[in-house]
Amino acid sequence: MEYPLSEEHILFRETMKRFVDEEMIPVEMETCNEDGELKPEWKEKYDKRAQELGIWKMEVPEEYGGVGADLISLCIVWEQLGRTIAIPSRGLGGIMGPQVRAPLYELSPEMQERYLFPVLNGKKEACFAQSEPDAGGDPGGMRTAAIRDGDHYIINGTKRWITGASEADFAQLLAVTDKEKGSRGGISMFLVDMDTPGVKVTTHYDTMMGDKPTEIVFDNVRIPVEQRIGEEGQGFSLGQRFLANGRLKHGARGVGTAQRCLDLMCDYAKQRETFGEPLANRQAVQWMITDTYVELQAARLMVYNVANRAAEGMVDRTDGFIQKMYADELGFRAADRCLQVHGGIGLTTDLPIEKLWRQSRSFRITEGPTEIMKMVIARNILREY
Ligand SMILES: Cc1cc2nc3c(=O)[nH]c(=O)nc-3n(C[C@H](O)[C@H](O)[C@H](O)COP(=O)(O)OP(=O)(O)OC[C@H]3O[C@@H](n4cnc5c(N)ncnc54)[C@H](O)[C@@H]3O)c2cc1C
Repeated sequence: MEYPLSEEHILFRETMKRFVDEEMIPVEMETCNEDGELKPEWKEKYDKRAQELGIWKMEVPEEYGGVGADLISLCIVWEQLGRTIAIPSRGLGGIMGPQVRAPLYELSPEMQERYLFPVLNGKKEACFAQSEPDAGGDPGGMRTAAIRDGDHYIINGTKRWITGASEADFAQLLAVTDKEKGSRGGISMFLVDMDTPGVKVTTHYDTMMGDKPTEIVFDNVRIPVEQRIGEEGQGFSLGQRFLANGRLKHGARGVGTAQRCLDLMCDYAKQRETFGEPLANRQAVQWMITDTYVELQAARLMVYNVANRAAEGMVDRTDGFIQKMYADELGFRAADRCLQVHGGIGLTTDLPIEKLWRQSRSFRITEGPTEIMKMVIARNILREY
């Protein structure tokens, strides 16, 4: 079973697969340090290889010096990178160059000079600050407020779980500008320099995946109106647009993780013998292999179908949720089955399985927990009846 890809995409997939098989998987146990970051020697090597392979700044439009790749090519890269743990715990961006969130392209030329180009040139880093202590899965419930004061806004509130906040030079912040309207036109997006008086990175959270999201407190932070992106009230839809691509990235990466776990599971089941026979002869193990294989075909078809439709301008939010939910859930199920088939050795840090398990566990929560995806999907299904 295969999603129909063009010849060009098939060739590109082969190149990416070879790169991951030959240059990432064999060294994956040693590429990252204890903080989940790539060690400097590997960062240098992979940055260079990413440029040679054409995956560096792949998501950046051509007019901004990037590759401007189509969504199918991006899914191919995300899927292939999802097969290895040789990537920083902060995400696939660590291999593909600076990560630019879409709203930055919509800034005025002057603001692009200040924020977009330094990110593109690797001189500045940005973090995305939407979630709060009482508003994660339900961002519409956020309380951080930006109150207009002449030609400034004054921001007060707390953001939590913000990836890369400690290293960031500025935050792409979502805050309430109209409490009555909430997520229906009452939330705006701002660029806030992290060294603005009143901005403070407080608690770091150590996670099972290795990354350390942080809390940011905004205490009477005063910023000029020019640092708002788009119109007042557009923030939520700007944020959702960025998250839509993120969901596809989740889906493709989940497929890659599931593929790797299936490969590991099958290899081990054939070589490991118990009670005088290889594990591969046991029905209990065969069913885990079959279930993973079948679900993997379904997930891959979903991810590439959604990417293809989105590339043709048919963006369907429900489909985006479906593929994210299905592939993220599968990534974890596959990692869990793979670990089970490996027995004790699967639990050790001698093999990549426990890390694939920890990472895929987190995908069922970040950028939209499964249950919330299900709730939104159900709402949309019921609307049809
Ligand atoms: C490592 C990490 C990095 C992150 N990076 C960022 C970042 O850079 N920027 C950012 O803004 N956010 C970030 N987040 C936040 C992340 O998106 C939220 O954690 C996620 O959306 C869940 O929010 P929550 O933790 O508040 O869970 P809650 O919303 O409190 O939900 C908890 C659980 O309740 C269940 N649940 C919730 N609502 C429903 C419902 N309606 N129906 C059924 N069940 C429900 C789900 O099982 C859910 O997992 C990050 C989180 C982590 C862990």
